[in-house]
Amino acid sequence: MIIVNDIEQIQNICRDKSNKGFIPTMGALHKGHISLIQKSRLNLDFIIVSIFINPAQFSENEDLDKYPQNAKNDIKICQDNKVDVLFMPLAKDIYQDYEPKIISDKIDAYKLEGINRPSHFDGVLNVVMKLLNIITPNKLYLGKKDAQQIILIEKMIKSFFLNINVIRCESIRDDDGIAMSSRNIYLSKNDRMKLMQVNKALQKCKNKITNNKTKSDIIIEEIRNNLIKLEINYISIVNHKLKQAKYTIISDTIILISVNINNTNYIDNIWL
Ligand code: AMP
Repeated sequence: MIIVNDIEQIQNICRDKSNKGFIPTMGALHKGHISLIQKSRLNLDFIIVSIFINPAQFSENEDLDKYPQNAKNDIKICQDNKVDVLFMPLAKDIYQDYEPKIISDKIDAYKLEGINRPSHFDGVLNVVMKLLNIITPNKLYLGKKDAQQIILIEKMIKSFFLNINVIRCESIRDDDGIAMSSRNIYLSKNDRMKLMQVNKALQKCKNKITNNKTKSDIIIEEIRNNLIKLEINYISIVNHKLKQAKYTIISDTIILISVNINNTNYIDNIWL
């Protein structure tokens, strides 16, 4: 594996590779990230992983300065999983002082995660577009855990006519059902006990939805009743295009939950 910081250098490496799989991350890698890498390996891709804590997607009151970092461990994980190139650019090389920007779709990017984090997805789309232009991957591996993010990136790829295949990857959970996330290091044992309710509630609803006639409002109410002592930001049911769903349609529904725990935003979802 080679580690590259320089943009011109990675462009030169990527230019003549024909089956590139790309996994963008913010580092502090865990089994969720590893599952994306392994999926890419199965497809015999030339694998590029990026680690870049993107300042543009953090709002002022967020944890940019203390976002978890563990470069040594990240490098080992990438090596052990046969990543070809680990790309770790510097912010000063990614962003110029004045530059054109992508503004995300107001309707779908300023709801759910966008309510409390205005312009978060502008930051995400800008960096992803930059990284895609640098790497020019054939396949982009993204986690379904970040449902809104994946759908907005897919829309951007379509809108800008990029020839990139998005591979949606399943959420990886710890044994207690909590979806893995780099920010989970902020959680105490007690927080985790409370959060275990989230996946349980999602699974319970999934098992109940056996036809296309279930009203979303009823499911939302049921989940709310199952989440005890949790500060709920939202429970929402949308279709795979992120549009509010009145009824849960099997194969076209995502149930999303966001809770605030110990000043950390924990999100989870289930795709039907
Ligand atoms: P992050 O480093 O948090 O920006 O995540 C980088 C990529 O890994 C994104 O596509 C995430 O959706 C994905 N990812 C993060 N956590 C998980 C997880 N628990 N299971 C699967 N994919 C994940």
